[in-house]
Amino acid sequence: WTAHSRPLGRDDRGSQLALLVLRDETDVRRTERTRADFLANASHELRTPLASLSGFIETLRGHAKEDPGARDKFLGIMQAQAERMSRLIDDLMSLSRIELNEHIAPAGRVDLAMAAEDVIDALAPQARDKAVTFDSILPPRGAAVVEGDRDQIVQVIQNLVDNAIKYTPKEGVVRVEIFPGLTAGTASAARDPAAARLSLLTPDLSDRDERYAGLRVSDKGPGIAREHLPRLTERFYRVEGQKSGERQGTGLGLAIVKHIINRHHGGLHVESLQGEGTTFGVYLPMAKSLPQKDLATADGA
Ligand code: ADP
Repeated sequence: WTAHSRPLGRDDRGSQLALLVLRDETDVRRTERTRADFLANASHELRTPLASLSGFIETLRGHAKEDPGARDKFLGIMQAQAERMSRLIDDLMSLSRIELNEHIAPAGRVDLAMAAEDVIDALAPQARDKAVTFDSILPPRGAAVVEGDRDQIVQVIQNLVDNAIKYTPKEGVVRVEIFPGLTAGTASAARDPAAARLSLLTPDLSDRDERYAGLRVSDKGPGIAREHLPRLTERFYRVEGQKSGERQGTGLGLAIVKHIINRHHGGLHVESLQGEGTTFGVYLPMAKSLPQKDLATADGA
């Protein structure tokens, strides 16, 4: 519904009269509005690094030309801005691709342990830069095989582990756990009653369920205040004033995660305690039992 009020003048006792018009917005209009908001946000996000690039180009053409120290510093900033634009465009493309095929059931089988190993290998340089170590608890290959699109599931794990590295302090530990045959919940071994918990997707699959395999990514970063949890998967939503190190995020990572898990009929949980850390839990339907020989190639290898 949208509400508009129209002033209607005053009655004979001098009170202001107004007509309140309530209008039902159709789904089509809502979708149009969401799309327009998205385009406005995306344009704004792309314009910011672009404006910074233009500014530095101007400075370099001017007085910074003669100062090699300043020139190198500005070129470094420009490179970071160009990389940020490139990340934004990649994320926007991913999101639109996922949305296009969100209604098509993903075909394929993915071994979560193998996918997690690949992600940990791929993100090793980022972790090394911050002296962050991984503590991974993975089941044997073939034990946690889910139905899905391998590239998309790798992207889910990658976005969560990338965030964990980004928000964890230097020399911190990022834990990656996979649970075959039951949901991970966001319950950690030492579950803190003060932590805020939220299911970011329905259905809420926080109970044990043999039909799902679970993945949990935990960090010892700053944590996320309770009031931000429901908005984390909104596009471009970022928690104000949070340090993410050198690499500024796009605010699209968790929106992508949510869309992919939705397409896979899975679940997504977050549990966080400020000052202590954050845990994201993902649940995905296990692939139907396969003969052993097929499991060996389940990952499309
Ligand atoms: P970004 O690219 O900015 O990281 P995301 O969609 O991945 O975007 O995350 C949205 C916001 O949620 C982040 O900007 C950050 O404020 C918060 N966030 C995500 N993961 C974590 C985490 N592990 N610890 C603390 N805050 C997080």
